[in-house]
Amino acid sequence: MPTYILLIGGPGAGKGTQAQVLREKLGLPQVASGDLFRDNLKRQTPLGQLAKQYMDRGELVPDDVTVSMIRQRLQQPDAAGGVVLDGFPRTQPQAAALDALLAEFGGRVNVVLYIQVADGVLLERLAGRWVCQGAEQHTYHLLFNPPKQAGVCDVDGTALYQRADDTAEVQGRRIKVFFEQTAPLIAHYRERGLLAAIDGEQAIETVTADLLAALSART
Ligand code: ADP
Ligand code: ADP
Repeated sequence: MPTYILLIGGPGAGKGTQAQVLREKLGLPQVASGDLFRDNLKRQTPLGQLAKQYMDRGELVPDDVTVSMIRQRLQQPDAAGGVVLDGFPRTQPQAAALDALLAEFGGRVNVVLYIQVADGVLLERLAGRWVCQGAEQHTYHLLFNPPKQAGVCDVDGTALYQRADDTAEVQGRRIKVFFEQTAPLIAHYRERGLLAAIDGEQAIETVTADLLAALSART
């Protein structure tokens, strides 16, 4: 049976950072909805152009578009054994669509890891975030996780850039959208006995250790 692990957390909580580590430790691909949108944007696809209108404002891309993108991704052969889902689902309808989709694949949501970080900390995380231009979109932080050489990715050597939606104006909107539209999923998954809440305000390695401990207790 395939394994599906969900990562939930506010913008800047550390989902992408941890998903990249979990992917290596668990041998499951990482599927990040934001990365898929940014990849489409880079390739100038119609989906990318549509998504940009929402991403630039810090709003969520409509559910039907997002769900069909995830459906296609989960049907790829490398996802047959399961995936770590980073940033999806983000709304109640997306969560319902995911249940139906995973049932089609003979699976279900196995565990939901909630990386808990206070608003003020989210803001300082986003303000210092730099991302690489490689396919895997490795993430750094000016102060908390700097690259070995300034402005260059340690892993693939591409130049680092700041995301268009990591500006001061858009950050606040994204955090608000998280609390309004995504936070209700925390209670939803807790009621189903699937939630593990992790303190995300610790060092990156400590958060990883807590996530792995939560996973081994539940899978
Ligand atoms: P962060 O890592 O800061 O949480 P993401 O890279 O996951 O941000 O998402 C960036 C943007 O992409 C979001 O602000 C939203 O516009 C869009 N997006 C990503 N995932 C979803 C989703 N599941 N549903 C709708 N929009 C999404
Ligand atoms: P998300 O995918 O949830 O939006 P990221 O993984 O992109 O979050 O992390 C946001 C920023 O915070 C990045 O610059 C990252 O390097 C940094 N970061 C991630 N986890 C931690 C942590 N535990 N402590 C300090 N900084 C962190």
